[in-house]
Amino acid sequence: MAPFAKLALVLTLTVGSLPILAAPSAPNIVLLFADDLGYGDLGCYGAADYETPSLDRLAREGARFTDFYVSSPVCSASRAALLTGCYHERVGISGALGPGSRIGLNPEETTLAEISRSRGLATAAIGKWHLGRPEAFLPLQHGFDEFFGLPYSNDMWPHHPSVRHLSREERIKRWPALPLIEGNRVIDEEITAEDQRMLTRSYTSRAVEFIHRHRDKPFFLYLAFSMPHVPLFVSAEAEGKSGAGLYGDVIREIDDSVGRILTTLSEEGLDEHTAIFFTSDNGPWLSYGEHAGSAGGLREGKGTCWEGGVRVPFLARWPGKIPAGIVVHEPAMTIDLLPTVAGLLHADLPSRRLDGKDIWPLLAGEPGAKSPHDALFFYYQSNELQAMRAGNWKLILPHRYRSFSGKIGRDDGIPVDYDQAETGLELYDLSVDPGEKVDVAKEHPEVMEELIGSVEMMRQDLGDRLTSRKGMGNRSAGVLPDSE
Ligand code: MG
Repeated sequence: MAPFAKLALVLTLTVGSLPILAAPSAPNIVLLFADDLGYGDLGCYGAADYETPSLDRLAREGARFTDFYVSSPVCSASRAALLTGCYHERVGISGALGPGSRIGLNPEETTLAEISRSRGLATAAIGKWHLGRPEAFLPLQHGFDEFFGLPYSNDMWPHHPSVRHLSREERIKRWPALPLIEGNRVIDEEITAEDQRMLTRSYTSRAVEFIHRHRDKPFFLYLAFSMPHVPLFVSAEAEGKSGAGLYGDVIREIDDSVGRILTTLSEEGLDEHTAIFFTSDNGPWLSYGEHAGSAGGLREGKGTCWEGGVRVPFLARWPGKIPAGIVVHEPAMTIDLLPTVAGLLHADLPSRRLDGKDIWPLLAGEPGAKSPHDALFFYYQSNELQAMRAGNWKLILPHRYRSFSGKIGRDDGIPVDYDQAETGLELYDLSVDPGEKVDVAKEHPEVMEELIGSVEMMRQDLGDRLTSRKGMGNRSAGVLPDSE
């Protein structure tokens, strides 16, 4: 073979076998996602009954956002938005998918894991999935190399307190056995109460093991805690540790998990090479009383588009890149993580339309950095556009909602009923009224006109059942064919 041909062959082989690696400056990504953790549930967001030292450390060593949102105050919809960078209505996932649902996140959508994988990162999903139970929709079919966890919520379970009085036969009809899954395979057909007590610790051990295993290879770790979603459970080690009852113990155990992850990253010398994000999928499930978290003075909670349902803690730490101790007041949303991470990894964005925007200037503490969004929209139920935020204005569109305001919950894990309430077209100035107490719509007709104009554009794009509008930009969820 001529020397040139030989060289060309060597070059071809070398280039062909090289993985596409992230740029040398690109970080590992650790995304920590709590379930039903309220805006007021962390020390750094005002919780006073118990301590959250490791999460407070994230705030101290990184950025704490005061005005960070999910797109919908419920599990599956919120997760779809987080992982795709799109409003959940765009990707066709609303509400919370049940165990028998034949719907899931469409494999045609591009997830954070696929973005990470496109740059050579190893990817793991640990914890709660809730974007489709059928195998076609599990994490391995969405860009994750590994999965260990539950396919959906830990209360979709035959031992749920609300069905405890029924016979096993009746309970199983209501909620089938809750499986633990590894990869695509069920490794434990029925999660027991003892297993639930170990969930946070098992997830953490898996996450720690994954980090050790990838000390020399870039990675994306998505750790989605099942807690503090009811039914609440903690390990024997965490029992009584918070001094603030079971809910405090559950949060403290999540905090300990974050601490173990921080320690592991330090041990492996990965602190400066890892961007960590922590947030929650929606606000507290208030009807559970003492077993629910706190919205920290915001109005209502999970299952509503008032601030208590959709505003959540958001912490981000990347030593040397995200300034320590900054507090960001600009509005942002979980949909912004995908384009932000894509930017950090120098990855191509998905070809399909995104709603999220790169918020790196906010995270990097750039002077004068503004929210990249003119407005953020909140859909709940099936395609109901219930609220929007633009600047400090929060516009509430007429809708019915469940209200817990002023009610008293129980202390035994059994929920009490919500009241049904109805709201008209209302406007709140969150800069002086984050609790959404004083409707100022009548004082600001020009603001109302402008915001309603934005709402109209959104209705054209993603539809709105409240006004019988069909959207032009909705894509469909994945649907399992009848034969499978
Ligand atoms: Mg949730």
